[in-house]
Amino acid sequence: MSVVVIGAGPAGIRAVETLLAHGLRPVWIDEAPRAGGQIYRRPPANFRRKPGVLYGFEAAKARRLHAAADAAGQLADYRPSTLVWDIAESRLQTAGSDGLGTVPFDAMILATGATDRVIPFPGWTLPGVFSLGGAQIALKAQGVAIGRHCVFFGTSPLLYLVAYQYAKAGAHVAAVLDTSPAAAKRRALPRLLAGGSALAKGLYYVAWLKARGIAMASGIEPMEILGTSRASGLRYRNSAGDECEVVSDALAFGFGLRSETQLADLAGCRFRFDPLNRQWLPETDEDGRALDPGNIYLAGDGVGISGADAAELAGERAALALLADRAIAVPDARRRWIARRLARAKDFRQGLEQAFPFPEYLARRIADGTVLCRCEVVTAGALRASVAGIGADELNRAKAYSRVGMGRCQGRVCGAAAAEVLAAALGGEIASVGRLRSQPPVKPLPMGLL
Ligand SMILES: Cc1cc2nc3c(=O)[nH]c(=O)nc-3n(C[C@H](O)[C@H](O)[C@H](O)COP(=O)(O)OP(=O)(O)OC[C@H]3O[C@@H](n4cnc5c(N)ncnc54)[C@H](O)[C@@H]3O)c2cc1C
Repeated sequence: MSVVVIGAGPAGIRAVETLLAHGLRPVWIDEAPRAGGQIYRRPPANFRRKPGVLYGFEAAKARRLHAAADAAGQLADYRPSTLVWDIAESRLQTAGSDGLGTVPFDAMILATGATDRVIPFPGWTLPGVFSLGGAQIALKAQGVAIGRHCVFFGTSPLLYLVAYQYAKAGAHVAAVLDTSPAAAKRRALPRLLAGGSALAKGLYYVAWLKARGIAMASGIEPMEILGTSRASGLRYRNSAGDECEVVSDALAFGFGLRSETQLADLAGCRFRFDPLNRQWLPETDEDGRALDPGNIYLAGDGVGISGADAAELAGERAALALLADRAIAVPDARRRWIARRLARAKDFRQGLEQAFPFPEYLARRIADGTVLCRCEVVTAGALRASVAGIGADELNRAKAYSRVGMGRCQGRVCGAAAAEVLAAALGGEIASVGRLRSQPPVKPLPMGLL
């Protein structure tokens, strides 16, 4: 039986480890050169920064997971630096350093993780503007800061973590500006308590930043990234409604994460709208089995954001389900234990959503002249015109008319905001405009390979 696992983050690593422990040798694919995924991303092998510096409180976990990945990589058919760009008829299409390839499979675990969720603003396409995840990758993978004076804004736990990591690494953090009001965090506290040490770490980052006199504000509304040929600061409204400006030569922003679901879509998975994630997600049963087709399993942030610890558990759970479906004996007590732990993680996740709500009002009122889709240079106004012009009442129709989401990123960057803008233009809920259908290649391919 040929089993494939896509993704070498916490979910993929634990899935592969579990399959190996039960006698299967999966093909294991990840586009990154080294296993670890987003949170435990590793710098190139010749870099010498220590895990304590790279991963802070998570250093011990990172070491354990990297060791597990390296051991599993020796035993599995591990293919790093390999992108899966299409799936059809139980075959993957890949692109790697040795060219294009095809991998047939009988069963597959998708552990494709997540990326930043962004809302476009005037100025967001200027040089010097990054997503929070992008800013973190620059620091973690390459040991470089995005600028000398950095402003971080948006909302999510990642906002405070990235600001802390930058300040700790010696960068000047000019301000940390959160769109979520302080009251939302206070209200979420009872639910956040389910997170245990994760809550404690979050509070520590905030206290650490405050103790160093770094300007912080909650309940802000970003208005415009300033600058002409490159970013020079941010204009925003504070919680009292006053207009303020902060000067910086680099900014990073983000509003939580969105699951990477393109491969699940191409594989033919059924989707449902998930109000917690404000996203259409592949439908699975409680063990991570896709409801359709029957040979696909999903785990980790790719099927709803739940964090790295939950991703590890979900990866193991999906592998156990795959094994059980092939009449390979698996410990039932372990499956029940994982289910209990994941239920607790869901409580914490709901608390985070309450503390750092996605400011959909900002997405819905993006100014007509603001570039929404940067690949195809489509403005929010052009998308709205697709409603007025052809009565586009669904995202794919609006895409065909306006070209929003038709470029290189395939809507991975602009899709979430485009759905909000379209729903607002139609006066409906975001779920009502559907989701962008995925198209291969899911990411750009070098022409040389084709
Ligand atoms: C940019 C970013 C930074 C983050 N930083 C932190 C942090 O510092 N602390 C924290 O607690 N949480 C962080 N998170 C959240 C955390 O990383 C996740 O909760 C956790 O990593 C989820 O694990 P996962 O295995 O589901 O996915 P991931 O760790 O995201 O792993 C998914 C893997 O799938 C691979 N992949 C995806 N698509 C393809 C494809 N088409 N072909 C081949 N390979 C593919 C990716 O290369 C990646 O290695 C971050 C998330 C993001 C997006």
